[in-house]
Amino acid sequence: MVKNHCLAKSINDASWSLFRRWLEYFAVKFNTQVVAVNPRMTSQKCSDCGLIVKKSLSTRTHKCSCGCELQRDVNAAKNILNLAKASLGHKQSNATGLVTSTLLGETLVEQVTRVNVESPRL
Ligand SMILES: [Zn+2]
Repeated sequence: MVKNHCLAKSINDASWSLFRRWLEYFAVKFNTQVVAVNPRMTSQKCSDCGLIVKKSLSTRTHKCSCGCELQRDVNAAKNILNLAKASLGHKQSNATGLVTSTLLGETLVEQVTRVNVESPRL
């Protein structure tokens, strides 16, 4: 169905929305938090010094002039973690240009509480 260009965007949007709701549900269930961050430039930015290091999608290794050399996805994961920590108020050495979105929505927490009452096995 995703290959149908008329429906693909709606299906993908619904899937991401459902995925996020599940993450938020389980975060409440296991007493932790979900922090959504803007993923823009997280694979290009050096997680060590903050420099933007342009690379194509086929380049799998992040190599920065500061000496940082990481697998591309590990570098991106560190940047995402730094953004999440920064949005929660944790101190970090290279917090620049934060663009974060949201924490748990109250409505969703209420929904999770209601689901727990209705379905204690969840
Ligand atoms: Zn660097």
